[in-house]
Amino acid sequence: MTPFTTDDDRAIADAITRFAGEQIAPHARAIDAERRFAGEHLPALAGIGLTGMNLPEAWGGAGVSAVALYLAVEALAGACASTTSMLTAHFLATDAILIGGDDAQRGRWLPEAAAGSRLGAFALTEPRAGSNPADMSTRAVRAGEAYRLTGTKHFISNAAHADFLVVFALTDPAAKARGISAFVVERATPGVSVSAPEPTMGLRGGHVFEVRFDDCLIPATCRLGPEGSGFRTAMKVLDNGRVEVAATATGIAGAALEATRGWLKVRQVEGEPIARFQGLQWMLADMATDLEAARLLSLRAAHLRTRQERFSQQAAMAKLFASEMAGRVTDQALQIHGGYGYAQDLPLERYVRDARILRIYEGSSEIQRNIIARAQLA
Ligand SMILES: Cc1cc2nc3c(=O)[nH]c(=O)nc-3n(C[C@H](O)[C@H](O)[C@H](O)COP(=O)(O)OP(=O)(O)OC[C@H]3O[C@@H](n4cnc5c(N)ncnc54)[C@H](O)[C@@H]3O)c2cc1C
Repeated sequence: MTPFTTDDDRAIADAITRFAGEQIAPHARAIDAERRFAGEHLPALAGIGLTGMNLPEAWGGAGVSAVALYLAVEALAGACASTTSMLTAHFLATDAILIGGDDAQRGRWLPEAAAGSRLGAFALTEPRAGSNPADMSTRAVRAGEAYRLTGTKHFISNAAHADFLVVFALTDPAAKARGISAFVVERATPGVSVSAPEPTMGLRGGHVFEVRFDDCLIPATCRLGPEGSGFRTAMKVLDNGRVEVAATATGIAGAALEATRGWLKVRQVEGEPIARFQGLQWMLADMATDLEAARLLSLRAAHLRTRQERFSQQAAMAKLFASEMAGRVTDQALQIHGGYGYAQDLPLERYVRDARILRIYEGSSEIQRNIIARAQLA
């Protein structure tokens, strides 16, 4: 039995695994090869409750535990990491409204987002402020009952396809991180412009964009929480997001491991399966152990979140270990597949490319180590 899980959690995971295998996995290769936006899956994801899986029932969500959410994201990532990245970016936006907003704002944006009829994006990173988002320069200047928003955000997942973006901006530059506020910005607001998708190594169906705000007038009712609370909201959202990145990592690595188990038995060299080589058996053993360790760390972080205990350090550990594990395991899986692993007929090279970003976004491995070290020294 998987630790930290209930019967309900496992039933949800089984349902999502079946759904993802039947409805999402068959399209993963084409989405990647054609760089097709994975949003084409939104109606199917909504049909099984995935678009609101991070939200409580009161706001139209599935109301499941954070452990079930982890297992669902893991199952989806095993089928298509681009689709998972599109969905988890949507979760970042809706989590920000849930955490930072009031009931009127939750009621205004969350039920439609949970139903998958409106897509969200989370706009924190800037061209010169990634690892340290407190260094941002986007400004929101109060103008009566509105704010004038000006600045540029970079690498924003979903942006061109999104209906709304949660945007972080300085309302009090002198106060630095404590002067950052969060706003929900309708994508159709005059002055919002989005670049063409930026070509990326992996997650090719999870489009990223540069977004410019040129003197956009944002009603003050779209500010989430008091002025200056935006950075705190962003950090809480990223705690959740890091467990979802860990789930994406274990999902991709799980798919790579499963493919490898099969390949070891069917690929023959000198008339016998390559599974007979002890060197490859040991590689398989290390891969399985690495994956299991990452899943346990991740499940523990999700369990703490379900219990509403502090889990920032555990989320950072899970994200750090699982994303680095996915790099090792997908690389070893490709190696065991030989030339067939490098060719695009099999998904191994896609797994390697898709896993690579997990060590960079939502706080790079170096930033996770900083978070863990700070907690250890506190
Ligand atoms: C595909 C993709 C999707 C993304 N989606 C989103 C999104 O939806 N929303 C969003 O807001 N952002 C998004 N991002 C941005 C992502 O979160 C940033 O790229 C990431 O935080 C790193 O920032 P940076 O690229 O500016 O790197 P930099 O901050 O320039 O870092 C460069 C290097 O320096 C290291 N470094 C930096 N600071 C430290 C330090 N203090 N100690 C040790 N090492 C350090 C980093 O680890 C890295 O190795 C996305 C990025 C990509 C590529």
